[in-house]
Formats: sequence, structure tokens, C-alpha cells
Amino acid sequence: MSCIFCRIVDGDLPSRTVYENSEALAFLDANPLAAGHTLVVPRAHHETVGDLPPETAGAVFEAVSAVTPRVERAVDADATTVAVNNGEAAGQEVPHTHVHVVPRFEGDGNGPIHRLFSSRPSLSDAELDDIAAAIRDGNE
Ligand code: AMP
Ligand code: ZN
Repeated sequence: MSCIFCRIVDGDLPSRTVYENSEALAFLDANPLAAGHTLVVPRAHHETVGDLPPETAGAVFEAVSAVTPRVERAVDADATTVAVNNGEAAGQEVPHTHVHVVPRFEGDGNGPIHRLFSSRPSLSDAELDDIAAAIRDGNE
């Protein structure tokens, strides 16, 4: 098995595990963006958020919700950025869904995730209506 996060879940690779439940595991990121940077992963291999079965999605978010205040307290953070690089085009490097919990500090200068986007589309009401309808229809 080559997936590094599956190997961590299986105990074949070391990790600094900080929280676990029946379907999810949280461990420190090996190359942290800030002290306390934690990753939350499903135990089962699912590549993207949309691949998660509902119970697994619930367990992952339960772990995110439980671990985030613990991370903040551990490093005395003022806040956290909780984010997923969901798919290769979004910068996902490890193809096993993981939620980043990154401690944030007043004045750290890193900004909101909005800063990832250098320009915004200009969309008409009709275009927004069409997009909303397409999402509601949800056809694959
Ligand atoms: P992403 O770019 O969203 O796929 O993020 C992958 C993350 O996994 C990066 O922040 C890496 O530092 C982290 N990472 C890679 N290998 C390991 C590992 N063996 N243990 C912990 N974190 C890892
Ligand atoms: Zn995996």
C-alpha cells in the first residue's frame, strides 16, 4: 500500500496522533505551517470530500470539531484556519482526504483563505440562478 496516510492509519508509518474516533484520526502535520498544525483524516482511503460516505464525513467533522479547540489551547492560538485542498487542481498533494487545522495568531499576516484568489468573477443574477439550480439538481 503506497498511500502515506493509509500507512499512518495502519501504524506502518509513525505519526504524532492527537485524537481519534472510530472512523477518523488526527495527527500533527510533518511539515507544519504553524506550531500545532494538525491533519484530520478518515481511517478509510477516500480521495476527496465528495467521496466520503455520510457516516465517515460525520466522523471526520466530529474529529475536526473536537481537536480544533485542543490545538488552539495547546499552542495558545487566537484562531485557526480549517481547510481542505480538495483535488489536485486545488493543491491536494496527498490523495487521501485530510482537513488542515492551522493555528492562527493576531497579526500573523497570513490573511483569510479569500487571499488565495486574486480575482473574482462578475456573475449576473441569471448566471447565479443557473449555478444554484445546477447545484440543487446535483446530477453527476
Ligand atoms: P495537501 O497539500 O493538502 O495534500 O497536504 C498534505 C500535507 O501532508 C502537507 O501539509 C504535508 O506536510 C503533510 N504530510 C506529508 N507526509 C506526512 C507525514 N508522513 N506525516 C504527517 N504529515 C505529512
Ligand atoms: Zn489512503
